[in-house]
Amino acid sequence: MACEKLQLQFFFFPAMAQGHMIPMVDMARLFASRGIKATIVTTPINAALISKSLERTTVNILTFKFPSAEVGLPEGCENVDTTPPHLLPNLFMASQKMQDPIDKILRDHRPDCLVADWFFPWATDVAGRYNIPRIEFNATSFFNVCVTHCMHLYKPFRNVSSDSEPFVIPNLPDVIQMTRLQFPYHVNRDEVTESDTQNGVRESSELKSYGSLFYSFNDLEPAYVDYFRKVLGRKGWSVGPLSLCFRNMEGRTHRGGEAAIDEHECLKWLDSQEPYSVIYICFGSLSNFNESQLREIAFALEACGHQFVWVVRKSMQKKDDQEEHEEDWLPEGFEKRTKGKGLIIRGWAPQVVILEHKAVGAFLTHCGWNSVLEGVAVGVPMVTWPVFADHFCNEQLVTQVLRIGVPVGVKKWVTLIGDSVKREAIEKAVKRIMAGEDAEKMRARAKALAEKAKHAVEEGGSSMVDLEALIQEIASRRVAVDACKLPVQFSS
Ligand code: UDP
Repeated sequence: MACEKLQLQFFFFPAMAQGHMIPMVDMARLFASRGIKATIVTTPINAALISKSLERTTVNILTFKFPSAEVGLPEGCENVDTTPPHLLPNLFMASQKMQDPIDKILRDHRPDCLVADWFFPWATDVAGRYNIPRIEFNATSFFNVCVTHCMHLYKPFRNVSSDSEPFVIPNLPDVIQMTRLQFPYHVNRDEVTESDTQNGVRESSELKSYGSLFYSFNDLEPAYVDYFRKVLGRKGWSVGPLSLCFRNMEGRTHRGGEAAIDEHECLKWLDSQEPYSVIYICFGSLSNFNESQLREIAFALEACGHQFVWVVRKSMQKKDDQEEHEEDWLPEGFEKRTKGKGLIIRGWAPQVVILEHKAVGAFLTHCGWNSVLEGVAVGVPMVTWPVFADHFCNEQLVTQVLRIGVPVGVKKWVTLIGDSVKREAIEKAVKRIMAGEDAEKMRARAKALAEKAKHAVEEGGSSMVDLEALIQEIASRRVAVDACKLPVQFSS
């Protein structure tokens, strides 16, 4: 077909948070590897963050000025990581103010397609001005989108008398029970609020967009992929897990940030451990526990006696005055007593490199979607410790649908800082996932899923088929549009 020779141009516009930028960057690399001219559109500080992982690729970066002044943000705050928590609402406002620069970029460059994060509902209309199809990028599961849809439609939270009483989410392929405490305020109550209005805007933008590109794979959640396509009647492509692609070491070690540990040192330590003997603990790029929670984790690790790699975010180690200080969050003598048994990474960890090491037996995760998918991709069972956002839904998928994890027992959504969990609960869950009576079965199920994940990203696998289908669709559209205008330019 002639359109296979077209030089298509895709623009990728990620939201300003690591959990959104990392999969979008991988996605752009994947499109570029198929001969697409791929360009990431972002602001200067975010461009600097991702440029390392784009070295030796053909992906371009196009920058526009971040609207700091318009929303009262100091210079330098251009993403969730660099913005103090009390200014996060301003960052959210900034994402509304990006319409003009994106409009100009689209007008000047006229790409064939704009893949824009779900966070930018306005992108559909802006792209529409230039007859550019906007694809909504979902850095979450089909499962989460289906649950959220049914929550809005059926409002099952009306049938319970307290926030902690479980209710079943109706009409889903599985029996999923959740509580009001596990959802944000605007999802679990009736009154119309500004957030509801925003939800409405977002949902109508989802419906108006050309389709949704999910960072997932069909065999992971087939019933929910089907539900999205057949019951919700929406167009969705499922392309992942991309942590299995691009296996050159440098890109992986610095994926999303400069690693705080030398990868060789880290791998050397892991090499010296028995297979499946290490629990890897990381809560993603946003969640930020207080010192007493960190201490509970330390006590639990000591008590359960398993080897560990524990990632502690840099900002967790600072007091309110932001001064560096002695690590008094660690129980006295902890590092001496656990010498040789554990590794604490203070800052950014090379997560995918660690997770795929044979010594890693389980992953204690906050259930950010990327982390879940990265764990699934390498067949590692999980202890689930949701904090906020889609984490509670992802926990349900991992523990109830896939049955490859055990919950640590978090009851309540607390944005960024999380609900507190006692050391006994952590110890119990870690022991269960590492060596409990159902540990082997969970590992076997996780390994089987990892095989399917590997297959999904091979030539002819479902993710690659979906990728090709999307490219072909945009190519055909371009041919049709060009047929009404100028003669089509073919690449050589
Ligand atoms: N990540 C990493 N090193 C870290 C922390 C996080 O490489 O020390 C990566 C992780 O592999 C994942 C992303 O950052 O790709 C975090 O995304 P996720 O959706 O899991 O959680 P979020 O950060 O959005 O809460």
